[in-house]
Amino acid sequence: RETAKPAAKHPAPQRRRVRLTHPDRLYWPEEGVTKEGLADYHAEVWRWIAPWITGRPLALLRCPNGIDGERFFQKHAWKGLNPHISLLRDPKEPQGEPLIGIEDLDGLMGLVQSAALEIHPWGATAADWERPDMITMDLDPGEGVAWPLVVEAARELRRRLEDHGLAGFVKTSGGKGLHVVAPLRPQAEWPAVKAFTKALADAMAADDPGRYVSTISKARRRGRILIDYLRNQRGATAVAAYSTRARPGAAVSAPLRWDELDAGIGPAWFTLQNMPTRLATLGSDPWDGFRAAAAPLEAPRSRRRKAG
Ligand code: ATP
Ligand code: MN
Ligand code: MN
Repeated sequence: RETAKPAAKHPAPQRRRVRLTHPDRLYWPEEGVTKEGLADYHAEVWRWIAPWITGRPLALLRCPNGIDGERFFQKHAWKGLNPHISLLRDPKEPQGEPLIGIEDLDGLMGLVQSAALEIHPWGATAADWERPDMITMDLDPGEGVAWPLVVEAARELRRRLEDHGLAGFVKTSGGKGLHVVAPLRPQAEWPAVKAFTKALADAMAADDPGRYVSTISKARRRGRILIDYLRNQRGATAVAAYSTRARPGAAVSAPLRWDELDAGIGPAWFTLQNMPTRLATLGSDPWDGFRAAAAPLEAPRSRRRKAG
């Protein structure tokens, strides 16, 4: 699966074929963004968002009455599912309720029609459920943590991933933090990937306990950054690159080049309103080479030593 190619100079937004009911329904009332506005955003960013949301099990944050109304985090298909959305059968739970997937822009419009304001994919594809093709390290600043420290944490994580032969890519969460994402060649299975990411988070917390924690349970989070590695277990999700967030401001999760990441770009700087302009004026994909950089998770050290 290829990362989105940089768009042509002025790419025509993709055509929509899925009919929207109530296109004027306000999803982000403060910003005046309607259901149709969300559909237009997705049509514009389709080539960029597609690699992250097609062919994977998805969880959705659905808000039928917009961000101020009732919301539910939905992992399974529902009755009356839009026909452009596909059902995915978890091979480990063939009798269980089907999961949700999409294959194309019509599917994404089906999600918009279903009031999916946030799209949260698995880190594995439906072609290979047991072997993740990416890691997401979620940096959650506790209360009182200055933003430059979150930026430093992301850079530190990148260095540590590189020490293990992995490439790190950074995106804003569109909320309070940053996500560092590493492409994997899908070889190791979930338990090994989870163990690897836990070790990574634990090492960071052990080396600088004043700054980092790796367990959620600790009330010590205040003033520290939680290195949340739990996105990397079977069935867990993280918000997709380019997905909108159901929060005031209509921020999106925005992939950045490492040299763009500085104190000036906050976690919610990029939004549904300014992202299309950013993409139209970018010279190249900020995550250029993502898939090409995929490496296998290294074998645990003890086993490697034994193997010579
Ligand atoms: P922030 O920067 O504000 O932390 P975030 O997207 O990283 O934004 P987190 O609270 O850290 O938010 O959550 C990490 C991920 O956990 C989410 O992106 C989502 O995929 C998943 N998640 C969120 N809510 C739920 C939920 N109710 N049930 C299961 N998983 C959830
Ligand atoms: Mn987070
Ligand atoms: Mn988190």
